[in-house]
Amino acid sequence: MLQAALLRPIVIAMYIDSHCHLNFPDFAERLPDIYRHMQDNQVSHALCISVDLESFPEVLAIAESRDNLYASVGVHPDYEDCTEPTVEQLVELAANPKVIAIGETGMDYYRTPGPLAWQQERFRVHIRAARATGKPLVIHTRAASEDTLRLMAEEKAGEAGGVMHCFTESLDVAKAAMDMGFYISFSGIVTFKNAKALKEVAQSVPLERMLIETDAPYLAPMPHRGKTNEPGYVKHVAEEIARLKGLAVEEVGEATSRNFRRLFLKT
Ligand SMILES: [Zn+2]
Ligand SMILES: [Zn+2]
Repeated sequence: MLQAALLRPIVIAMYIDSHCHLNFPDFAERLPDIYRHMQDNQVSHALCISVDLESFPEVLAIAESRDNLYASVGVHPDYEDCTEPTVEQLVELAANPKVIAIGETGMDYYRTPGPLAWQQERFRVHIRAARATGKPLVIHTRAASEDTLRLMAEEKAGEAGGVMHCFTESLDVAKAAMDMGFYISFSGIVTFKNAKALKEVAQSVPLERMLIETDAPYLAPMPHRGKTNEPGYVKHVAEEIARLKGLAVEEVGEATSRNFRRLFLKT
């Protein structure tokens, strides 16, 4: 009896949240709970994403406080009135071994209709920093996929690689990014009932090119929609992808975790 129990394989799936904002005020007093919930939900690691240089020290401090957290450095395309980064600055800040990515960066014409010259220039700066450091890009693209892909090609973003985060574009856009060696990351949006087109994209993107994320505190997946999101909820994204692809959730957890390590940790 005892022996049988010992021989039974214990499968514990692990999940990695490839994109969250733990320095945002939503989490200020709650970080110990957030970390405990990660553990409770088998979320082994999380990448804390920077949105401007002013708050980068906070992001780095969070990443440095725990072995299973990492940081990125970059300035978000939606932040117009903040310190504009230079390539040299990004390269210098990315030298810290806890910093494993450049971003989030990219193009967003949803909030302010484009083309926006300052946003394009900022994106170019990030791509150059990623190529100089060999650290992958975390790319945000919204209502600007043509310019995003054009700048990625012009600046040879494929040499650094990276991820199209919180993906909501068409399969054609996903394919163009994958052709440049990029991964596609799905957020809680894929769990929403009305996200039919995105669910189809997730069915077509191969598991080997896929990451999962929360983008916490935003976009909590079902069944937590409308609440404050947190890395522990990334498992619901994996569950929906497993359902869409007819796979076991453990398989999705394992593959997306392996992709994360390959892309960001080079292991
Ligand atoms: Zn974003
Ligand atoms: Zn984000």
